[in-house]
Amino acid sequence: MSTTVVAIDGPAGAGKSSVAKALALKLGFTHVNTGSLYRAVAYALRCAGASLDPVDKAELAKITLEYTDSGLLLNGVDPGEALRSPECASGASCVAKQPIVREFLLEVQRRSALNRWIVMEGRDIGTVIFPDAMVKIFLTASAYERARRRMEQGEIPSGATLEEVQKEIEKRDLQDSTRAVAPLKAAPDAVIVDSSSLSLEETIETIARIVEQKRCTRG
Ligand code: C5P
Repeated sequence: MSTTVVAIDGPAGAGKSSVAKALALKLGFTHVNTGSLYRAVAYALRCAGASLDPVDKAELAKITLEYTDSGLLLNGVDPGEALRSPECASGASCVAKQPIVREFLLEVQRRSALNRWIVMEGRDIGTVIFPDAMVKIFLTASAYERARRRMEQGEIPSGATLEEVQKEIEKRDLQDSTRAVAPLKAAPDAVIVDSSSLSLEETIETIARIVEQKRCTRG
């Protein structure tokens, strides 16, 4: 068992990032957001003028990624807000489908957990990256609730209705869970946490309790 990893997987919009960040702070663990790694690969390739689809092995080999206690370093530099752009989000989805990229990032993700406690969020942490994680959480919420939260946070195209946002979320869920490479699914031994009727604080408390129980029973 990888005794130092709390894996949080789940669909987009379930609140993984807010929960993982706050949980890591509460527990004194390092937070690793694996979406940033896929975004960083897309960003670095774009900056180098290289192809995103297909990704070239030699171009990939030029990229160095390291998760320090204070965050991600891309080729030795903090990429900052550049990774949050819509171009990086769509580029990330594009490179994430390619096995060559997933293999490259598998190593980066495993290295980031050496000698420290981490809360790692993503899509395939409990199933592929750390199948032996100490705690596996599959954080989800109904498509309606995720659409409602998206609307509330203004993360939608202007003029979109709640119904349209919900339909888009359902479409992406289907794509993510049926893709050939590392599909989004709960590990058989994951605890499913449905945050549809929980506040952010309640969700963090629920998961923190699960982690503490596990740490106690492990002695
Ligand atoms: O979570 P975030 O939106 O930053 O992720 C960007 C993209 O990276 C996702 O849309 C998904 O396609 C991909 N991703 C992935 N596996 C992960 C994390 C992210 O395929 N563990």
